[in-house]
Amino acid sequence: MSSRDEELIDYEDENDVTNGAPVPAQNGATAAAVAPSAGVADGDKDKKNYTGIHSTGFRDFLLKPELLRAISDLGFEHPSEVQQECIPQAVLGMDVLCQAKSGHGKTAVFVLATLQQLEPQDGEVSVIVLCHTRELAFQIRNEYLRFAKYMPDIRTSVFYGGTPVQKDADLLKDPKTCPHIVVATPGRLNALARDKYLNAKHVKHFVLDECDKMLEQLDMRRDVQEIFRVTPHSKQVMMFSATLAKEIRVTCKKFMANPLEIFVDDETKLTLHGLQQHFVKLEEVQKNRKLNDLLDTLEFNQVVIFVKSVARAIELDKLLKECNFPSISIHSGLSQEERISRYTQFKNFEKRILVATDIFGRGIDVERVNIVINYDAPGDADSYLHRVGRAGRFGTKGLAITFISTDADQTVMNDIQSRFEVAVTELPDHIDPATYRSLTNDSPLVTS
Ligand code: ADP
Ligand code: MG
Repeated sequence: MSSRDEELIDYEDENDVTNGAPVPAQNGATAAAVAPSAGVADGDKDKKNYTGIHSTGFRDFLLKPELLRAISDLGFEHPSEVQQECIPQAVLGMDVLCQAKSGHGKTAVFVLATLQQLEPQDGEVSVIVLCHTRELAFQIRNEYLRFAKYMPDIRTSVFYGGTPVQKDADLLKDPKTCPHIVVATPGRLNALARDKYLNAKHVKHFVLDECDKMLEQLDMRRDVQEIFRVTPHSKQVMMFSATLAKEIRVTCKKFMANPLEIFVDDETKLTLHGLQQHFVKLEEVQKNRKLNDLLDTLEFNQVVIFVKSVARAIELDKLLKECNFPSISIHSGLSQEERISRYTQFKNFEKRILVATDIFGRGIDVERVNIVINYDAPGDADSYLHRVGRAGRFGTKGLAITFISTDADQTVMNDIQSRFEVAVTELPDHIDPATYRSLTNDSPLVTS
């Protein structure tokens, strides 16, 4: 790793305040070892179908035939509500500030809008997409590859910290390899811009995914602003998130000119209707036993278990493996290569259980995840909304269970209940698996 690389700040795992606190000892629960397949549902692939009330199709957006072909290959039949609201204006180059529920296809809005407008020139970066974690950048880059399948001339690269900076610099330097689209985390891209490897003079589209996160955190915001400043004044700016508090909207709009604004002002509408939500009140020392029981009895395709620190992610993952659960962990304590490798294994359904810190809490899309367990309650209501949104993607069914063991956990839970008016109830003794497994396309995304 170059010295430049070590200078880069890592914004992730910021909840890691309790780093070092071990997961409490398991009171004999480890003895109840279970077979890896126990409690695991069929890995059926949810078919994605939007059978809502709207009759608009992707064809109505007058997209390039190459894009329509790719959309059809992906099996997208109808645009979701947010896609219908944003794409027609976004393809015309209008600025967009968009809040829409988790898992409802915000990525395709900016991917399609930028690919539609892009006229690739050798040696010119035309599109910059910034997001808050490396895995999300990697995922968005893959989305570009999927949608640009029939656009062989378009080059997309992903840049983030924890990898050799020289490789990124070499790609940017050579006009034959210089990407037209750059997806990046702000720290690395700002370093590339500062050292003049990135020439941002030709940028025509500037996108922030998870924009509230990127602008609320001051170090990240500074990097975003510095990159923004070296791009031309006239360009399209688009920003997206499931959570956009009134205060942060003002900040977002400072980057934009007369944007199309899509907000969900009634926060109760952010609730995912296919998602069943429960809590369990218990002592810290009872968490492992309860988790073991849940994994044993619940039918999951894939499950994400959130914890509050790197140390706890490592310990809990170890414990689950000792119990023969098909578990893997992801957190900032791993090398970057290992992080992407684990993300990919989980995404490809090679592992069924992921123990994660908040680096996995936003934006990550793994369609087979039907259960989220907050082993450690999230720090605030927004973070809850993002975490549980990892299940129930694109209107599919899912289940979220949150462990409440401290007064602080309870306060967050009260806030969640009152803000989103979501019925998070005490976990019942038995839940019918049919209510949280969507093996067929029986949970259409109908919007209210
Ligand atoms: P968001 O960013 O709003 O949380 P994503 O963009 O990650 O949501 O999309 C969630 C999932 O829905 C992805 O797996 C994506 O491929 C899928 N998806 C998006 N749009 C459509 C569509 N129109 N039809 C079917 N699936 C879609
Ligand atoms: Mg997203």
